[in-house]
Amino acid sequence: MENKNFQILLYYCYAKIDNPEEYREQHHLFCVENNIRGRIIISDEGLNGTVSGLTEDCINYMKFIHADPRFSKTEFKIDSYDSHTFTKIHVRYKPEIVHSALRHLDPNVRTGKHLDPESFRNLKDQEDVVILDVRSNYEHELGHFKNALTLDIDNFRDFPDKVKELGHLKKKKVLTYCTGGIKCEKASAFLLEQGFEDVYQLHGGIIKYGMEAGGEDFEGKCYVFDNRIAVDVNTINPKVVSKCHICGTGSDRMINCANQSCNVHVAMCEECGWKMEGSCSIECKDIPEKRHYDGTGYYQKHTNGYNPYKGLVRKTTKDKFLDRVIE
Ligand SMILES: [Zn+2]
Ligand SMILES: [Zn+2]
Repeated sequence: MENKNFQILLYYCYAKIDNPEEYREQHHLFCVENNIRGRIIISDEGLNGTVSGLTEDCINYMKFIHADPRFSKTEFKIDSYDSHTFTKIHVRYKPEIVHSALRHLDPNVRTGKHLDPESFRNLKDQEDVVILDVRSNYEHELGHFKNALTLDIDNFRDFPDKVKELGHLKKKKVLTYCTGGIKCEKASAFLLEQGFEDVYQLHGGIIKYGMEAGGEDFEGKCYVFDNRIAVDVNTINPKVVSKCHICGTGSDRMINCANQSCNVHVAMCEECGWKMEGSCSIECKDIPEKRHYDGTGYYQKHTNGYNPYKGLVRKTTKDKFLDRVIE
């Protein structure tokens, strides 16, 4: 029997934070003391995070966020797992919670209409509807909604530029989606600003759609930003859309290139994985110091000397840490 006593939380909240640096400290300390790992961005416009931890620690973490009136409405996408999916905790201050080049837009003022998974499923096949994937190439190449319009972008920053090519869709119903919903808040707000008339967004993203609507018509896997790399979302009519990077046959087996300085994520079939010794190219295969391929293509990150308190600057915190080291 699988022992799933860990959780993975994915969340965001657009809310004004007047003291982001101070709040960052506080948030970081809470994570360290509750053994929460992952990546969290704190900005003047809100919070964005993916974290992992023991179930009881994750419950406390959600309480900690909800207890702050600024973030009381935060919705968490909760997955169960058998281990941490991060090796470290990073709590960083950034000017935006998703790098978008759309800082002037506040989704709390205006954004696309939110669709819950069930409504999205009902609306997506109607006439005059365009399903727009606002994610980047490496994400939609691994999986996307059937009939979705995907964009040739390597970063969400490039989304506004691409929208210029979509002018002919201004009178259509546009349904945007992304991994967890955060990019759509700004993407749909931007579409409205550009004169698109009827704009909707999949609330909670692909992840929530998988949990609540069975992931119907999502083809391939969903790229995620933790050690799992990709997750299944469709339990109704799954399909493989990605191709082996080497031989081109259908495969959704994701590996990291064995050459550590390359480390690229690619789909690779079982056979090519062994043949290439887990490398994405002949060049990488020829690197003598590349990592040993064990058939998974996953490599544990080194955490020697890792100090989770790193980044905390308050004197009291440092003192606290020193006390512990002495203990
Ligand atoms: Zn292959
Ligand atoms: Zn490589």
